[in-house]
Amino acid sequence: MRVVIGGGSGFVGRELTRLLRDKNHEVTVISRHPGPGRITWGELESSGLPPCEGAVNLAGENLMNPLRWWNEGYKKDLFSSRIDTTKALADAIAASPNPPRSWVLVSGVACYKPSLTAEYTEDSQWAPFDFLSRLVKEWEAAALLPESMTKTTKQVVVRPGAVLGRDGGAMKQMLLPFWLGLGGTLGSGRQPFPWIHVTDLAGIIAQSLDPPSPSDVPPSSDPPYSVPPSSRQVLNGVSPALNTNYEFTKELGRVLNRPTILPVPAFVLNTLLGSERAVVLAQGQKVVPKRTLETGFQYKFPDLASALKEIANS
Ligand code: NDP
Repeated sequence: MRVVIGGGSGFVGRELTRLLRDKNHEVTVISRHPGPGRITWGELESSGLPPCEGAVNLAGENLMNPLRWWNEGYKKDLFSSRIDTTKALADAIAASPNPPRSWVLVSGVACYKPSLTAEYTEDSQWAPFDFLSRLVKEWEAAALLPESMTKTTKQVVVRPGAVLGRDGGAMKQMLLPFWLGLGGTLGSGRQPFPWIHVTDLAGIIAQSLDPPSPSDVPPSSDPPYSVPPSSRQVLNGVSPALNTNYEFTKELGRVLNRPTILPVPAFVLNTLLGSERAVVLAQGQKVVPKRTLETGFQYKFPDLASALKEIANS
């Protein structure tokens, strides 16, 4: 299979590319920077979608970019880097004479309102309530293909929690303070901490690129069909473990053999990161990967101990 990955040069994209190439698939990355095995967003716009059977978008300005202050310009870039790239890929897919059979957008769990008690599955109803949930709404809307394509292209949205892996994401910034014994719970520590190991996220995306199987099709639909008639499938890209920030902090301290006695109060996070962004650390959602499990996906790292051990030892 040939797969085109917007933002494939990043943390998740590198893991996905490795996984797909190991399975002998061909990968073309769409990037802001030209290079071997890549096309630029400008080339996508001018020349159209390269021939492919699968397309994924992972592009987006990093939400925790340590080099950027939380201000209007940064917030604008968080929106445009996700929505413009997603729209560009969706438009290219719609305009392609041979559209791919699968189109996967990776968004986030920020659409679910933080709560200590509510549990969210892919079926949970939600409406935007803050900056990040508005972002998810517009981002996912930008990915929608025209109604006429529901029979040609399977559309999937994967909503990951914090992606854990050695080479990027939250862990990259957390490992050093924890190694130095400066790690501690964030906020109250009681807030849920939805997470996934990067290998499992890449696995869910790769599985979503597979041609639709009969189990993707709701029982009410009439055969023959090549893809589910519903407009698209949502998969929560989180581990099934349902941990809190306290549990994460203590487990990371345990695998690194370091103390975790210095809590970071919520007001410090709000001051350092801006409250609209600090919400992802100081608050959280209990996200259940109900439909992901129903697809038969087998997690390599279903619990924190195995995920963090792999990261600490790699
Ligand atoms: P990265 O931060 O590694 O970024 C992915 C790619 O996006 C980069 O390699 C870059 O590609 C491109 N990019 C960065 N800034 C811009 C910009 N301003 N305009 C256009 N493109 C840009 O992301 P991850 O791999 O960590 O995450 C992939 C997706 O998953 C993202 O959309 C992210 O929001 C989402 N996600 C990630 C989580 C995480 O914990 N990592 C959690 C939840 C969701 P290039 O330089 O080649 O153009």
